[in-house]
Amino acid sequence: MVVDELARLVAFPTVSNRPVTALASHMAERAEALGFRVERFDSPVDEGKTNIVASIGPQGTDGLVLSGHMDVVPTEGQPWTSDPFAVTERDGKLYGRGTADMKGFLAATMEALARIPASAYTRELVLVWTHDEEVGCVGSAHLAHTLEEQGRRLPSNCLIGEPTDFQVLRMHPGHVGVGIDVRGAAAHSSRPDLGINAIAGAARVVDALQDLARELESETSLEEHLDRPWVAFNVATIRGGSAINIVPDHCRIELGYRPLPGMRAEEVYERVSERVRALSLGDAEASTDLIRVTPSLLTEDGTALAGLLAPHATPCARPAASFATDGGNLARAGSAPLIFGPGSITVAHQADEWIATADLIRAVDVIEDVVRRACCQP
Ligand SMILES: [Zn+2]
Repeated sequence: MVVDELARLVAFPTVSNRPVTALASHMAERAEALGFRVERFDSPVDEGKTNIVASIGPQGTDGLVLSGHMDVVPTEGQPWTSDPFAVTERDGKLYGRGTADMKGFLAATMEALARIPASAYTRELVLVWTHDEEVGCVGSAHLAHTLEEQGRRLPSNCLIGEPTDFQVLRMHPGHVGVGIDVRGAAAHSSRPDLGINAIAGAARVVDALQDLARELESETSLEEHLDRPWVAFNVATIRGGSAINIVPDHCRIELGYRPLPGMRAEEVYERVSERVRALSLGDAEASTDLIRVTPSLLTEDGTALAGLLAPHATPCARPAASFATDGGNLARAGSAPLIFGPGSITVAHQADEWIATADLIRAVDVIEDVVRRACCQP
């Protein structure tokens, strides 16, 4: 039953800094046993990382995507009261890392699909199981890129089973990481006139970035849907200098910002680069680079999938998730993702993460119903 399957999935300690291949193979084997065509998309840069894409039903028919990530966040330093990689049931709750985020959805999906015979599919169902979502949606970015290169598109209905307590969410901000290197020239600290102080240059850069952050705060949009309807912008780290008696020749700043739903991810990056270029840094030089890009998501209201989910959905005040998902990348492959799943994001990433046993069991029924109506109608 679904609780046993969840326990099996949680027992794979797929923290993002570790290999995911054993769980990926398990997910692939389960899908193959149900008659799915399974493809593995290995990471081009990281050994031990792979995305699984499995499909069933007539190829190219516009059916449904069910998607989830296989990785989980670390548990080190968290006050767990039981082994995070062994599911423990107490008071109607199943405790373990990933029970809510989001192995509960993976387990419920495989349990639901086991109830549907392979011959029932009149439209294609595609499963997309990704790696490294928790460290910036890295797996889905690679997958979207590969599918683009191959000229392949995913079905437009796409369900990302992140824990939303069965609320249907259709937008979220993205997350972009940017680095700025300021280069000067080293000198003995007794002769600063012979050097170019990179940290002093970086201070001017930080000032300019704070100005930009204030500007972004005044550029609001989607006010009716978002609690904070502007681009959140954070200068996050700064590193420079090597000793108290050397003029520093290098300083690196890293910052993150969260593009609003529907906003092109690189737009603010281009403004950062422009600002930095326009600064007068004496003889120091500054350059910018993109560290990572997790696109935002904005799916229009009233899609076919929204209709299928409506009878199962918990009403919600705002259809926006505060967290980013693989949805922004999967949208690049032609789908219109919605975020909907069992469990609560408020217990995710914490000690004693849990999902209610009743919600997990309900998820199996919900997924079965949605798949049958999206992919098994005559
Ligand atoms: Zn998640």
